[in-house]
This record gives sequence, structure tokens and C-alpha cells, in this order.
Amino acid sequence: MRFGSLNYFFRSLRRLFYPKVCVLCRLALISKERQICSYCLRKLPKSRWLNPQENPVYNVFRGRVPVGNAGSFLVFRSGGITRQLLHEIKYKDNRDLAVLMGEMYAEELLQAALPPIDYIIPVPLHRRKQKQRGYNQSQAFAEGLGVKLSVPVSTDLLQRRAFTQTQTRKSRWERWRNVADVFVVNNPGELNGKNIMLVDDVVTTGATLEACVGTLLKAGAQRVDVHTIAHAKE
Ligand SMILES: [Zn+2]
Repeated sequence: MRFGSLNYFFRSLRRLFYPKVCVLCRLALISKERQICSYCLRKLPKSRWLNPQENPVYNVFRGRVPVGNAGSFLVFRSGGITRQLLHEIKYKDNRDLAVLMGEMYAEELLQAALPPIDYIIPVPLHRRKQKQRGYNQSQAFAEGLGVKLSVPVSTDLLQRRAFTQTQTRKSRWERWRNVADVFVVNNPGELNGKNIMLVDDVVTTGATLEACVGTLLKAGAQRVDVHTIAHAKE
């Protein structure tokens, strides 16, 4: 077993011996509550963007890359709830919370009439980062969405190229060129004519997501939608 996964295993094991508390207010959860207590649930800063083509996330990509639909589950507001949830997901290895975010967002999306989706694809994490963290938070979010929307999650179609140390010695121009094709599609035939929901944890400038959308469309995807746990203004 590699160090990364062993580390994750022990941290997960440790969690078993601690009573379950709400990730936001730290009060003990009652039997049916999961991760967030019912009081804090009511305070979640949901975006409630009903139009998938008229919202701040869709606008991030306007004029840059053609995106089908776009949206985020949460927005950043004062009080720091979204920040706290993302911190829990990214730095405290709370995989189940990321899955729950996906499940809850799917319930919102089901209320809007979604066009058909063939695959949900999470933005691949840098291999080194995934090893440190033990899991890819975007993949966990994708799994929650997939279960509730009954759409398969694919983690091998879109991949991040691995770079060597020599990368740092390259000129600025060479590095820029590299960023433009950081992502590759493994099996373009499988993507041909497919509708994709691309997901990530946060969208800010949208640079990474833009690169992914471009790669997927070039490989033959028919439509690419972009959905994230949260949207942060620049
Ligand atoms: Zn709470």
C-alpha cells in the first residue's frame, strides 16, 4: 500500500472513535443527521440559480469557451459557511461531506429540467496532490451527483498529464503552452457525441475548467456543462 492511501486509511479509522458532530457548529449529530445538523442545514448559502444559462458561473465562460449549462450549489457569503465546508472537504479529508454536497446539489438540479447527460467527469487532481490528500474532492462530489441523477461518473476519460521537474526550467512561453494542454482525453471515441457534466469544487477564474471544456469539446463531446460545489467571485 502506498503511503498516501495508508495515511488516509488511518485517518479514517481514527474518525470512527470520535463521536459524530456537525461540521459547522460542532454540536453532536442526532441519528438521522449526516455531517450537518438540521439547524445549520437551513443556513446553507445555496445559490438557487434556477436558470443554468443566466448566472454568474455561466458568465465566467461567456466569450471564452462554449458551455452548455452551468451552476454552483453554494455561494460565498459573510459568516463563512461555504469557506468552512470547503476547508473541511479539502484539508480534513472529509470525503463523505463532498459526496453529500453532490447529493444535495442533485436534488436542486432535478427541480430544473436538465438536458440529458451521459457522463459526469470530475476535474482530475494533480497526482501528487491526490496522494497527499488521499482522495479527489471533485470526484467525491461527482459521485454524490451521479448517484442521485443516475448518471455514471468517469474518472479515466479525462486525465491530467504528469510533468517532470524540468518544467520549472522552461521559459514562460513554454510553460504557458503546457498549461493549455495539461489535460488529455484517453479514449476520444467514447466521448464522441456525448453530453458531459464537468464538475469541480470551486470556480473562480475558471481557467482550469476552461482548459478541460476545450479538451473535451476537441475530443468530440457534443455538450459540456460545468457545475461546482461553490462559486467565488474573483
Ligand atoms: Zn450544526
